[in-house]
Amino acid sequence: MKATAELAIIVPCYNEEEVLPQSIKTLSAELDKMIKSKLVKESSKIVFINDGSADSTWTIIEKHHKKNPHIKGISLSRNFGHQEALLAGLYNTDADIYITVDADLQDDISVIPQMIEHFYKGFDIVYGVRNRRDTDSFFKRSSALCFYKLMKLLGVELISNHADFRLLSRRAVAAMSEFKERNLFLRAIVPLVGFKSCNVYYNRKKREAGSTKYPLKKMILFALRGISSFSAVPLHLITIFGVLISALSFLLMLWTVYGYFNGSTIVGWASLMSVITFFSGITILFMGIIGEYIASIFVEVKKRPTYIIDQRLD
Ligand code: UDP
Ligand code: MG
Repeated sequence: MKATAELAIIVPCYNEEEVLPQSIKTLSAELDKMIKSKLVKESSKIVFINDGSADSTWTIIEKHHKKNPHIKGISLSRNFGHQEALLAGLYNTDADIYITVDADLQDDISVIPQMIEHFYKGFDIVYGVRNRRDTDSFFKRSSALCFYKLMKLLGVELISNHADFRLLSRRAVAAMSEFKERNLFLRAIVPLVGFKSCNVYYNRKKREAGSTKYPLKKMILFALRGISSFSAVPLHLITIFGVLISALSFLLMLWTVYGYFNGSTIVGWASLMSVITFFSGITILFMGIIGEYIASIFVEVKKRPTYIIDQRLD
């Protein structure tokens, strides 16, 4: 194989001082191997995006940048979020192939050469897909499964068991940059880009050090973002439900009028209360769903910057 492509490995980092030194070592060893075997060009690099870390993450990146010319860094002006940090890396790095991977290296980077082989065979997007998830907690596994099922029901195309470990070609990244949305949910945007794509399978490992940067609250907000920016099905369901209820209440009205003329209108307090409480609940729930979409629109129309760069190490 001749080294015809320049690779950039994009690594978002948020408070990763505990795991970063080891990850930098592992990643640069992998990159050296690929350069030596002429799989990728000598000018290939690893770009660490410091997403407003409060710990020594950026100092660690700076230190390794001085020692190793393949290591680059971009520091954001504050914490913008995982997806935003990924875009900052993708849109501010020049390369032929981009591979995004988490800083904790839970995703098995030994499949990277395989991803690159697929690129040379003509694939613009290669998804890293987890074979087994037994290293994740039972809760994380089952909630993820429910989420994939729900998204499918809502008509959103997602690759199951794929997170943000993937290869993108230069033109795939260029096409992605045409998606101007602020509510970023990259794993649903990438399939919309199109081009030829394939999967590479691996086993997900345990986090070696540090703790997850996706606590439950962030996970729920992220899932809501995925639904409200990619599916209008919940809104349609409200409409359908509204039509059914209207039909039902018309029948109820006929029955009430009938009762009135029959003189049997006193009983019915319990049923009245049930109907009122049930429909108050439904009304508030539906207002909430509509509210989620309005909130999404609210974020989109402001067109605030997705990320702001503070410093770069090229
Ligand atoms: N991350 C980030 N900004 C954030 C949160 C997370 O850049 O606001 C990065 C984090 O450093 C890691 C990746 O996103 O490289 C995934 O986070 P983590 O491994 O904690 O998520 P999990 O594997 O637990 O889902
Ligand atoms: Mg992780």
